[in-house]
Amino acid sequence: MKRAYFRFYAELNDFLPLARRQVGFVHSFEGRVSIKDTIESLGVPHTEVDLILVNGESVDFSYLMQEGDRVSVYPIFESIDITPVVRVRPRPLREPRFVLDTHLGRLMAYLRMLGFDTLYQNDYADKELAQISKREGRILLTRDRGLLKRSIVTHGYCVRETDPRRQLVEVLRHFDLVGAIAPFRRCIRCNGLLQPVSKQAVSDRLPPKTQQYYDEFRICQDCDQIYWKGSHYQRMQQFVERILQQSGRGNAGT
Ligand SMILES: [Zn+2]
Repeated sequence: MKRAYFRFYAELNDFLPLARRQVGFVHSFEGRVSIKDTIESLGVPHTEVDLILVNGESVDFSYLMQEGDRVSVYPIFESIDITPVVRVRPRPLREPRFVLDTHLGRLMAYLRMLGFDTLYQNDYADKELAQISKREGRILLTRDRGLLKRSIVTHGYCVRETDPRRQLVEVLRHFDLVGAIAPFRRCIRCNGLLQPVSKQAVSDRLPPKTQQYYDEFRICQDCDQIYWKGSHYQRMQQFVERILQQSGRGNAGT
């Protein structure tokens, strides 16, 4: 048996048994094994990893483990600039787009509410989710670590929180999306884009009170659902405000 020394940093520790969190530990292995398979066998999905240093040098996922290696594994960095160092992750996706697993229905509604392109069906199979993520360049959000270990998934994130609102804050923070929030832009029902529509064009479909009090409307290009800035919109604004506060708005730009 050969031995290597591992240390995982920051939130990657969430995936380790308690005794291995925040400390270095010895890992024994045999034969030719890649660092990617080794990291996953220790419990950490490869999609969570952004930088691997072996004996102080940056390596990619195909690196073969050697006797005596000292391995440091880092998650996706938010505030520390490591761009000069080679990352193992492919280039970040320019405009974040998501596909969510079937257990994240409420999170889907929140993401769409804030304007993010979010695919969701309550009957997606795991294989299908992985394929959609790959084919459409979408970040796969799930609480299922096994799903993220599928090799075709290059952009994924394991959601730690269980409460949907906390999940939203977690995702906004992790992908640094607070500045990209654009409410009233996307259909919560079908993910279609909203476009302005005149009151006249939709007046026969509006409840009387809405007719009376609102003048600005948008309609979903895909499913025809009509939106206006009614009481639900006010509540959403307050919700967004709270999230901005929780996400530490003002930290950006440094
Ligand atoms: Zn729609």
